[in-house]
Amino acid sequence: MAAKETRILLKHADDPNYSTSIDSYLAVGGYKMLEQAVTMKPELIRAEVKAAGLRGRGGAGFPCGVKWDLVDRKSGKPIYLICNCDESEPGTFKDRQLVHKDPHQLIEGIMISAYANNVALAFIYIREEMPKGARILRQAIEEARAKGYVGENICGSGYSCDIIVHRGAGAYICGEETGLIESLEGKRAYPRIKPPYFPAVLGLYNCPTIVNNVETLCNVVHICRMGSVEYAKIGRPNNTGTRIWCVSGHVQRPGYYEVAGITMGELLYDLCGGPLPGRKFKAIVPGGGSMKILRYDERFKGKNPDGSEYEYGVDDIPLDFDGVAAAGSMSGSAGMMVMDDSVDIMEALANLVGFYSHESCGQCTPCREGSLWAKKITWRMCRGDAREQDLDTLVSMAGNIGGRTVCPMGFSTTWPVQSYVGKFREEIEAKVRENKVGMRGDIRLIEK
Ligand code: SF4
Repeated sequence: MAAKETRILLKHADDPNYSTSIDSYLAVGGYKMLEQAVTMKPELIRAEVKAAGLRGRGGAGFPCGVKWDLVDRKSGKPIYLICNCDESEPGTFKDRQLVHKDPHQLIEGIMISAYANNVALAFIYIREEMPKGARILRQAIEEARAKGYVGENICGSGYSCDIIVHRGAGAYICGEETGLIESLEGKRAYPRIKPPYFPAVLGLYNCPTIVNNVETLCNVVHICRMGSVEYAKIGRPNNTGTRIWCVSGHVQRPGYYEVAGITMGELLYDLCGGPLPGRKFKAIVPGGGSMKILRYDERFKGKNPDGSEYEYGVDDIPLDFDGVAAAGSMSGSAGMMVMDDSVDIMEALANLVGFYSHESCGQCTPCREGSLWAKKITWRMCRGDAREQDLDTLVSMAGNIGGRTVCPMGFSTTWPVQSYVGKFREEIEAKVRENKVGMRGDIRLIEK
């Protein structure tokens, strides 16, 4: 039987009779969970979210309840909540859908999470390139304020919390939580060094701060509605709840799909319709541009705990955090980019490296210089004037970026270079040797 979506967060998103107005949301039971939450003890809500096993949907998959547990509640300083709506990872467009199509779900999730963590001021940091989202959110907040769901004395409980929508200026690095905090403070978005700047202790204005992704916060509403036990039955253990995958590239039906408990093959074929006519899948980048690429024909082998051997292919990868990690990549931001056999892997890598070089904040040398160096090497390979030793230099240099930088963005150059060259070395070498690419004169890269 063909796999189907499990729509929970997106349940109403594409209903033509559903709108972004608060009346639409109230008509489907919206804000009921907030009304109930503010009558509960905050620690009980935190315990439910933790028991549900909700993992952050922004990229790293860190457990949300554990993140909340780490907040310094004894400092006497205010605690802030920031909704990370920067969504800058290439190939990712799920948070935009949630904001554009069901903003009150997000606002309810923020308000429940704020109440659970004794937060009196929350922020939505939205990327510059989402002006429509910012407009929708501001209007939705005003509607919610008028009905007593945001602002003073929420639902007559005596609890007060406001939400500020803050527009970024369009930098990739503002998706990194400490870079985002610097930007929110009005400074250049240089990520902070951890330790000591763990947001849970020293975040916004050096106060304890929770930074959660849009999709993560929307899930909080449904954990409250279903209860942690029922919620945890969705998906696999340690990978609970649904996940919204953004599929772009060479499939028949690209788009966003909310699923649970299915495989990569089921997403690619049953939901996305398979490859384009006459084409074959060549490679998949599972979780946004910075994640390691998978060859579509690769096989994964190993031993089970009982000693028996297993082997499976890309189509069999369980589509969740642990499933994709076991295949050697990461589900990241769930921005899945599909490449068929028409794609030139060398050009794809050069494009990606060019992006990460452009978006390096420049604070630390390995990332700033290394990504630029990687860009220069890959681009001259594309132009057709590569040097014989360039490929080895590229791989060696990339191995000296990730893990030696202030923030994880160093890996955004390291992982693509290592995985693209590691898995498609023959193809890239052939291109470089034959000097073919540059001679074609159809390079699609644009100098920045
Ligand atoms: Fe900036 Fe790159 Fe260093 Fe991150 S790794 S702080 S993006 S220079």
